[in-house]
Amino acid sequence: MNVQPDVEFIKYLKGVGGDTVKKCYQCATCSVVCPLSSDQKPFPRKEMIWSQWGMKDNLLADPDVFLCHQCGDCTENCPRGAKPAEVMGAIRAYAYNFYAWPRGLATLASSAKNLPLLIGIPAVIIFVLWFISGGLMADWKANFAAGYGYQRMFGHWDFHWYAKNIFFIVLFSVPAAALAIYSAYRGIRNLWQAMAAKYELNGDYRPSAGQFIGQFLWPSIKEILSHNRFEECTVNTDRKKGHKPLVFAFIGLFIVTCWSLFANDILGLFWPQFHGPMSFWNPVKLLANISAIAFLYGMYVLWVSRAEQEKKAGAESTFYDWFLIWMILAVGVTGLLAEISRWAGLAVVGHIIYYLHLISVMMLFLYMPYTKFAHIVYRTFAMSFEKYRESAFAKNPAQ
Ligand code: SF4
Ligand code: SF4
Repeated sequence: MNVQPDVEFIKYLKGVGGDTVKKCYQCATCSVVCPLSSDQKPFPRKEMIWSQWGMKDNLLADPDVFLCHQCGDCTENCPRGAKPAEVMGAIRAYAYNFYAWPRGLATLASSAKNLPLLIGIPAVIIFVLWFISGGLMADWKANFAAGYGYQRMFGHWDFHWYAKNIFFIVLFSVPAAALAIYSAYRGIRNLWQAMAAKYELNGDYRPSAGQFIGQFLWPSIKEILSHNRFEECTVNTDRKKGHKPLVFAFIGLFIVTCWSLFANDILGLFWPQFHGPMSFWNPVKLLANISAIAFLYGMYVLWVSRAEQEKKAGAESTFYDWFLIWMILAVGVTGLLAEISRWAGLAVVGHIIYYLHLISVMMLFLYMPYTKFAHIVYRTFAMSFEKYRESAFAKNPAQ
């Protein structure tokens, strides 16, 4: 076998938490203790040797890399301190960057030294939009007192078909979300093709969209929502406590965002009252607040858990580990503070916090596919691939 090591890839792994990879001497303890790997398809021992040899292509087409839940059982039991859990995390970080589109944005979002630019891009875009909207002329205090909340931050015109505030928020949030969705789609498509080529799956019998969703995708989503796999981990048991509220908070906030778009952009065209801020007891507002609290709780538990893991297992803290957590916290904290400021009638402070909130929301939308968040989509499709691979669709009838 002719191995062509990719030295740059090995360097990258070392830079994002996989610096211990060379210590591995292939005892396979990690594969034995891993609660998620099966006897037929064990991991992460093989990923360790592929990483040592710089076999990038093998790793990038390996579904097991995405099936790992980073529980840390393997790192805890590794007799050489090779930290396989961190190496697996580093491979995933590389994969998200490799499959991402556009690559330049992904590279930008992969390093702490780019943080001023990462914050600056949305800050400038939103500021320019606010400026040209005539926001400088808006009477924030009077609007606040009149019960408009932040609805007239971007200035206001008396045209009830489409509130100016919504128009300008849509101008930056929809393209950012569209870019994120397209990037995730391209990443998944390329990953799937790479996995199918690696395992030489039969491509003659493709399932319909309905069959794919019903037989492979939906069972994977159900499994993820149940968090059953987290229960198998013995070392880092707190991760389920943090991950579960976080996932459901995401779903809650997704519903709130969809409803807000529908209410403001569609219903608001006919009934202008849908443009106004919601009352505290509005069910959608309640869902938003409960989700925000679940969000902050989940983040706190994961934060503490990650910090403990770093202390106990000597795991290196990387920008990749923390960037998503910082962005989510920024969204949650600024959102809650903006709401508290509204109740307290603090118009100027509230608008500044709201501006920071919009920046953090745009950052989350824009950079999401290049952060740890990407694991949601990649893991879902890696799990679907595992089911698909065992199905009659993927088998070659000639074999
Ligand atoms: S990572 Fe550690 S436990 Fe796994 S094979 Fe290498 S030395 Fe053994
Ligand atoms: S971190 Fe957990 S799930 Fe991932 S390879 Fe190690 S033991 Fe398995």
